Amino acid sequence: MNRAYKFRLYPNKEQRVLFAKTFGCVRFIYNQMLADKIKCYRETGKTLQTTPAQYKTVFEWLKEVDSLALANAQLHLQSAYNNFFRRNSCFPKFKSKKKSRMSYTTNNQNGSIRIERGKIKLPKVGFVKIVQHRAIIGKIKSVTIEKTPTNKYYASILVEYENQVTEVELQKFIGIDFSMHDLYVTSEGERANYPRFLRRLERKLARLCRKHSKTKQGSKNRERLRHKVCLVYEKITNQRLDYLHKKSYELSEKYDAVCIEDLNMRAMSRQLRFGKSVADNSFGKFREMLSYKLYFRGKKLIIVSKWFASSQLCSVCGYKNSQVKDLSIRSWKCPSCSVEHDRDINAAINICKEGKRITTVGTTGSNAYGEDVRRLQPIRVKRSLDELGSSRFYKRG
Ligand SMILES: [Zn+2]
Repeated sequence: MNRAYKFRLYPNKEQRVLFAKTFGCVRFIYNQMLADKIKCYRETGKTLQTTPAQYKTVFEWLKEVDSLALANAQLHLQSAYNNFFRRNSCFPKFKSKKKSRMSYTTNNQNGSIRIERGKIKLPKVGFVKIVQHRAIIGKIKSVTIEKTPTNKYYASILVEYENQVTEVELQKFIGIDFSMHDLYVTSEGERANYPRFLRRLERKLARLCRKHSKTKQGSKNRERLRHKVCLVYEKITNQRLDYLHKKSYELSEKYDAVCIEDLNMRAMSRQLRFGKSVADNSFGKFREMLSYKLYFRGKKLIIVSKWFASSQLCSVCGYKNSQVKDLSIRSWKCPSCSVEHDRDINAAINICKEGKRITTVGTTGSNAYGEDVRRLQPIRVKRSLDELGSSRFYKRG
């Protein structure tokens, strides 16, 4: 099992220079290899395989930086290529000096990376001051050094450890319905009451951006304002992550199984024209956090099929009211048993019931409402970690 930890770094002046050089070399080798691959393909129709070592004779300054960082750049390019051929990803793009993320990845070889007395040892760079705010369990595999647009340095440390998760017997279930206003509503009627972090700072951002656009290119003032804008964005991101971590922690501590609907966030923000709201409350990120937090506690995230009509069914008698399809209906009265329903809470209760059903019965048999299950395919009970294959936190392997 792999797990990642992120710590803040405080490099000295020399180390900052070396970091900057490494970011530059990594970007250079990536772009150079990509350009050569494209050129070779145009001329011969074959895919060129090169290694960073081949470039070191021509570009001697590449020897100054960590060679593993360059090797990883090669791997990153290779996976970008593979993604392009296997999935429907875009063709690899060249990295820009101004816009690309400043980062590089290096690997641990027989203790070449280790943490000692508040410092982390990195190849070529030496001991860098680190604020290790939590203990690391396991063996360090690799480290990614990153510099943020606000000039802060972070190390993401990937460790490998023995999997000791013991599965919990699932007793306490909760259903969660995605909601535009509150982030989510639970089957127990609790609303997450999500603060609109982006909206709150929108005016401040607009003012800063306006000022920034009026400054002269290359001036000190422009750089000062750029820094300010980045600080605001950083604040929004931090507020959001902090909130999502707290909420997902709460749920994963309190319940054994969390049932949610399988939603395609990107399609949703496009179709329903809620764009900014969906992007602002980052339900996808929340789901990812829930998933791994539950996994570490031996608990489960249960994904209910998106074809399950969670909002249309009455959670008391099971009557299907197709009029509720209209998203503007916030509450309704069941024509069959005349119970008053809140749209979101009713949906969450249905999701919870359906989640319970698929963990006990599996995907065969009729569901709690006597509906034909075959029509509701695909229903999946994902092991929570399967979803994390491509996530930033964990990599398979
Ligand atoms: Zn009813």
